Amino acid sequence: MKDDVSRRYGIADTMALRPLLRRIFRYFAVALVVIFAGMLALGWKSFGSRGDSAARARMAESPEWVDGHFENPQPLKNDMLGALAALFSASKWVAPAAPVPVVNPTPEDFKIPPDSGLRVTWLGHSTTLVEIESFRILTDPVFSQRVSPFSFMGPKRWYPPLIPLHHLPPIDVVVISHDHYDHLDMHTVIALDEAQKPLFVVPIGVGSHLQYWGIPQSRITELDWWQEKTLEREGKKLRVAMTPARHASGRYLVDNNKKLWAGYALIGKQRRVYYSGDTGLFPAMKAIGTKYGPFDLTMIEVGQYHRTWPDWHIGPEQAVKAHQWVRGRVMLPVHWGLFVLAMHAWTEPVERAAKEANRLQVQMVTPRPGEIFEPSRFVSQRWWPQNEWQSAAEHPIVSTQVEP
Ligand SMILES: [Zn+2]
Ligand SMILES: [Zn+2]
Repeated sequence: MKDDVSRRYGIADTMALRPLLRRIFRYFAVALVVIFAGMLALGWKSFGSRGDSAARARMAESPEWVDGHFENPQPLKNDMLGALAALFSASKWVAPAAPVPVVNPTPEDFKIPPDSGLRVTWLGHSTTLVEIESFRILTDPVFSQRVSPFSFMGPKRWYPPLIPLHHLPPIDVVVISHDHYDHLDMHTVIALDEAQKPLFVVPIGVGSHLQYWGIPQSRITELDWWQEKTLEREGKKLRVAMTPARHASGRYLVDNNKKLWAGYALIGKQRRVYYSGDTGLFPAMKAIGTKYGPFDLTMIEVGQYHRTWPDWHIGPEQAVKAHQWVRGRVMLPVHWGLFVLAMHAWTEPVERAAKEANRLQVQMVTPRPGEIFEPSRFVSQRWWPQNEWQSAAEHPIVSTQVEP
């Protein structure tokens, strides 16, 4: 009787399946652990370093250090659920459908110094080569294939580096804004160090990553917001000042905000440049303008935004506002045009920034990636395709806790 019931309801079958299911589950769990351990091992070096006790003590002295991590004066709004939902509404145009019309500079292009005392080459995303008076600065250099701790996964660049790293002219300083992979690329840092032995200026804490990768401490300068490093060569001087930014840091999930993030003001005798790093809009941008402006050129991030993280990335319209707040003359939109890191159309940041600049009579330059330009005399031409994109009204980016 009991057997009949079991058979009718398939109970015996289920019982027989149980050991099999258990075995499958066990294999699955072991496979997950192996994959996780393998990823950890592969990414290990790139994750960087927490820093020794002396480095951590220095961080703890920073005014931005609160309860074991760095904090923004205006904390970041996070809408995790909204951000997750947004993944399902990505634009059809997040990446170019045809090759991007880039320019490949040659070493000869950099031989003669610029007449105007300022020449800039945008190498895509936030990598720029700034030639200011007699100094050369590289911002957030990324020459790797992917912005990721792994060589086989993660956002991949749309075109190869526009100038091979060993063809770069002599660089005085490499400035790093923060330790996210699209700004701090281990392989590039190591290759630059081997090729050129430049000075690295980094936000407080980030020096520990560089030292861990083999850069000697003598060539790393860690700064806090509002601190400066003065470069001197043949009687000429350039001030590299670290400016506040409203953002975050971290390379392996559990190290969030354990290193500082920043922007930069490059101050020569006659020419001045501002680089925003990654940032939302924040009130102290006006103080940056008062203290270090006016700037001949601002290089402000315009891309990789979403309305659910409006304080992490400033968005195109607020970027133009930031340009005005820091007292800029000419604006170069950066942080776009090389990787897919958000869900908007890849051309949307520049379309919206150009529209807003036009509305507010701000002079904006939009060189092709790799096109060398002098801000005071460059005539921009449209080079990106006509795609669908969302307007400011359709997808507004409005940072929190900022008076207009
Ligand atoms: Zn970032
Ligand atoms: Zn970024």
